[in-house]
Amino acid sequence: MFLTRRWLFITAGTAVFLLSSVRSSGSALRFPVGDPSSGSPYTISQKFQDAPFILNGKTISGHLGEDWAVDVGTNVFPIAPGHVVRSRDFQDNWCKVVIIAHENLVPGRTIYSLYAHLISILVGEGDDVIDVTKPIGLSGGPQCGYPPHLHFEIKEYHSANITPGSGYTDEPALNVDLLCHNDATFFRPSSFILGQIAIPSLLGSMSDKFDGDVLNINRWGCLVPPSQGASVTLADINQHLEVLMGTGVGGGGIVSQCSISGDFDVQVDYILLNWPINNNHSVRLGAYDLGGVGVLRFSASSSELYELGPGSTAHTPTNDTAGQFRLVRTGSTISGFFRTGSNWTFLGSETGATSATRFNLDLGTNGTFAPGGIVVAFDNFQVNAGSSVCPAAP
Ligand SMILES: [Zn+2]
Repeated sequence: MFLTRRWLFITAGTAVFLLSSVRSSGSALRFPVGDPSSGSPYTISQKFQDAPFILNGKTISGHLGEDWAVDVGTNVFPIAPGHVVRSRDFQDNWCKVVIIAHENLVPGRTIYSLYAHLISILVGEGDDVIDVTKPIGLSGGPQCGYPPHLHFEIKEYHSANITPGSGYTDEPALNVDLLCHNDATFFRPSSFILGQIAIPSLLGSMSDKFDGDVLNINRWGCLVPPSQGASVTLADINQHLEVLMGTGVGGGGIVSQCSISGDFDVQVDYILLNWPINNNHSVRLGAYDLGGVGVLRFSASSSELYELGPGSTAHTPTNDTAGQFRLVRTGSTISGFFRTGSNWTFLGSETGATSATRFNLDLGTNGTFAPGGIVVAFDNFQVNAGSSVCPAAP
């Protein structure tokens, strides 16, 4: 009876890839200070979403930007052409702040970039910024109450009343997604920029240890299924990718940017970080373009099991809270395996398409009664065999 309770993207149909649409805009961004592709990397002295806290039972967003440590007086460049909507001295710890609206960065949407703790501003409100090689300001230091750094935000939200002195935009009620957009208003700045800049060394590679603390969006897009009530939060932290689901039906995760055509052999580690028994969720390595075929660790209403889904009767009961999934395609046969300890166990096989496919790592449930707060992690996605085909550099 648990067969009806899988979370399957094939039933959802129209997953949305925001980051793909960001990439397709074709307007490359530049880093405001430093540039990792030219050997002058930025250094993050405080991360995005660092130090969230709980007030009256509600989680309040932490740091809504990134702090990039640079010397006092460093040139700060606009990430892209745009229109200056704020350029003023807020004094106190904000010092001087520039906010630029970018109306063409993502088709149909306005994205704002915010540069704070400046000692000098070189553009005025109402100015059009056209030349991204001209600085818009100079970074500040102790006079702004902090060690020298640029506080930098990228968001879809712009308030006429940002609060001076708070150190970052004061908007605790907003929903912030750590990696993927969903309904979020703030982006992780380095992810956003890296998603726009083609870094040759990152293209063409699918394997990922998730050690970078920033999801590599040259490799992965966010899997944001149609809203069915549940919230899904992704975070590349603790050297793996964590996926957290709130209460309700739905699911989410990531999907590879590259595809594999022909035979393949891929695997990934999973860990169940918060997984009450019989919670009705499944965690999965899937062949995204093959109708939802994947290896699942499923928590059914009366049993815990591994499964090759969908459409397969291959189930193996388990009490594992960590292990590995593996999918192998030979011709039109797709086989699923799981591993705990040193041995791979064959789960089952089914006949599938031979066309190219991307791969998804996700968590989800179709059970309306399923509890929230489920947390899993993926690690060490690895392509053992197969020829990848990757999107062209944006
Ligand atoms: Zn900051």
